[in-house]
Amino acid sequence: MSVSPSAPSPGAPAAGVTARAPAKVNLLLQVGPRRSDGFHDLVTVFQAVSLFEEVTATPAEEFGISVEAVGETDVSGVPLDGSNLALRAARALAREAGITDAVHLHVRKEIPVAGGMAGGSADAAAALVACDALWQLRSGLDGLAEIGATLGSDVPFGLHGRTAVGTGRGERLAPVLTTATFAWVFVLATSGLSTPAVFAECDRLREVEGWADPGSDGRLEAVELALRGGDPQALGRALSNDMTQAACALNAELLGTLDTGRRAGAIAGIVSGSGPTVALLAPSEAAARRLAQNLAPLVGAHRLRTATGPVPGARVLEPVGTPKGS
Ligand code: ATP
Repeated sequence: MSVSPSAPSPGAPAAGVTARAPAKVNLLLQVGPRRSDGFHDLVTVFQAVSLFEEVTATPAEEFGISVEAVGETDVSGVPLDGSNLALRAARALAREAGITDAVHLHVRKEIPVAGGMAGGSADAAAALVACDALWQLRSGLDGLAEIGATLGSDVPFGLHGRTAVGTGRGERLAPVLTTATFAWVFVLATSGLSTPAVFAECDRLREVEGWADPGSDGRLEAVELALRGGDPQALGRALSNDMTQAACALNAELLGTLDTGRRAGAIAGIVSGSGPTVALLAPSEAAARRLAQNLAPLVGAHRLRTATGPVPGARVLEPVGTPKGS
């Protein structure tokens, strides 16, 4: 764990608020052409899964952040300066609400860093919810999502959670009816992938192979139907990610991981977002545990995480220092 100088002074009553927010997997990721603002139009289906970040906001003299690894999460790539998304979120909310107080944020990280599972966005979502409660602002989900969208395209989904269709840059959300809990095994990569590099490679491949209008080919309807029916086999057939080819071109390990996952019993596998994490869908939670057991000797147990989805978005947990029953 690393702690910045602005941690609250020892001995002071720590009236903090803790919130948690989930990771996401994209069940569908359709990528349109690069827009004039540099972003891509997306049609995506997000599902929030049960890997969580916890952010505790505590009043402090100045803004600061500390990060703690949960389990084997490698947090070495997480910035501890003003570029951290959680800190940017807290500052943005303070600015918007005219708050002059500062907070120290302590982040407990379970979501793989730079893994295509929106860990940084979850930190921002949890920070917004925690600071909103600490400062008693009652901004509402839509108000926080508006601020979140200025920080990153995935932040509004971290706030809303569950399962949702995302359009625009992924920040415009509509909930999707889902009648089952789905079971996942995530395989972490041994080397990283930069999101901008994957989008650039996607653009390059599209120049060669031509463009399809995202959302126009029935793939979204197939995912929605599988979710409505609660059918993991149908969902497995409907999973698709336009960034797979680009991610695999930049990180050859991914094709092997997808193949290993299918052979070990997954219904289907998909690159999560822009990668490099691979998401494997299992028929049930028990099957996901067996799948992880089968995969452990092949890829290493430290690279595996099991999770279920959908789960709710960012929520406040019990306030630090509040006596039980008060
Ligand atoms: P996405 O799925 O939204 O593309 P990701 O899951 O691939 O994101 P993140 O874990 O969100 O990746 O981190 C991407 C980069 O953002 C990191 O390499 C890091 O430099 C930077 N970053 C800024 N704030 C955070 C944070 N709170 N946690 C993790 N990374 C952060």
